[in-house]
Amino acid sequence: MDIAEKLELLADAAKYDVACTSSGVDRSAQKGKLGNTSAAGICHSFTADGRCVTLLKVLMSNACIYNCAYCVNRISNEGKRTTFKPRELADLTISFYRRNYIEGLFLSSGVVKSPDFTTELMIEALSILREEYGFRGYIHAKAIPGTSPELLERLGSLADRMSVNLELPSQKSLNLLAPDKSKHDILSPMAFIKQGIEEARDTRRLMQKSKRASTTYLSTRNTAMAKPAREVRQFAPAGQSTQMIIGATPESDYQILNLSSALYQTFAMKRVFFSAYLPVNQDKRLPSNNAVALDREHRLYQADWLMRFYGFDVNEVIDESNPFLDLDVDPKANWALNHLDFFPVEVNKAPYASLLRVPGIGVRGAKLIIRARKTHVLREQELRKLGIAYKRAQFFITCQGKYQGGAVAFEREALRSRLAAPIQGGRHGSRSAKITPGQMSLFDQPQAGALWGGSPVGALGSGPAALKAGAA
Ligand code: SF4
Repeated sequence: MDIAEKLELLADAAKYDVACTSSGVDRSAQKGKLGNTSAAGICHSFTADGRCVTLLKVLMSNACIYNCAYCVNRISNEGKRTTFKPRELADLTISFYRRNYIEGLFLSSGVVKSPDFTTELMIEALSILREEYGFRGYIHAKAIPGTSPELLERLGSLADRMSVNLELPSQKSLNLLAPDKSKHDILSPMAFIKQGIEEARDTRRLMQKSKRASTTYLSTRNTAMAKPAREVRQFAPAGQSTQMIIGATPESDYQILNLSSALYQTFAMKRVFFSAYLPVNQDKRLPSNNAVALDREHRLYQADWLMRFYGFDVNEVIDESNPFLDLDVDPKANWALNHLDFFPVEVNKAPYASLLRVPGIGVRGAKLIIRARKTHVLREQELRKLGIAYKRAQFFITCQGKYQGGAVAFEREALRSRLAAPIQGGRHGSRSAKITPGQMSLFDQPQAGALWGGSPVGALGSGPAALKAGAA
């Protein structure tokens, strides 16, 4: 199989993984090295269904010895199987990087032979990238449950972010749909990664401290003697994330959000990603209803956002007696409707935390209000200028003591009908429909005379010697 076909297969097989944002690390360019992790606007792209992905998003292999019911790569499925040679993947990444197609690499894999064998392949590819090519760009590596700690350690020293997929929200569901995986095999690497990140952070702090102390001493003696400390690669400096599939098993949003909250607290997760179950296999263990719960996924992300940035506790977002999020009203509006005694809030006086509870006022808006009211009295006009979603906020605020909600009755049902709106952000695919003119997809067939003529993966038709040498 040639490398273009491998890439097409392994990039396509990776599209179901949504845990791929590249936030959390800021590493600048360096002379003699390639790449940086600064936001450049091209480190994300969108799959055909509108999900945010980091390019190059690819699997090391789609040949898997496991048989997870929901997975397109499971052993019982027929279809072409292939595995990158480590050098092929490294050369391909560099080739795309040099063409400005990508800012980094998101690498996952099916389990080839064993978790350790697969991780060794990934480590070899990343070592070529980091050590041979001096690649300083962003790398997200997906750790495979059951991998030995020594290999996790090495993988984490090469990657910026690591993640271990939780896959399903309970051991019972794992037993049913992913019988080769266990809670222990998934949580152990998460704990190991957390510990590795903390130790690396402590070591770095100590080194910086001792460097400062020695520089201060030397500056009083002989500055020429002060040598810069050798750069030590940190362990997964962008932290770890995880992903779970929503809707393949019967767990409620209450269970999912409580689990997610525990993951943030226990393993210092940067992100917990939710992935609405996409039916790709026929299997009697899977739901017979093939609807993809994108609205539910969207509400879970909103609830997650409230817990991470708005100071909401999981018990404020959802409770056991109503274990599913309201699909008609977003979780923040829902909280407001259930706590009308908290409102209205006076925008000219309320503390930051109270402003954050107002539907229509976000983190940025609350900060702008606090700043603006030092010099201005805030009314509708000023709030609109600050970018507050006034149409929503007006029902929950006063400006200089005057209620802004007009004639709408300040009671639950009347307000609910004003706040209920179709989910906009959950329309997966809408963003992918807006292709920026001049941008190419990796798999577009270039037009005659275009820059990268030839193969479906344009770069391969005219790639550098390194790429050709690496092709299978
Ligand atoms: S381990 Fe399971 S989810 Fe991962 S590639 Fe293999 S079958 Fe798919």
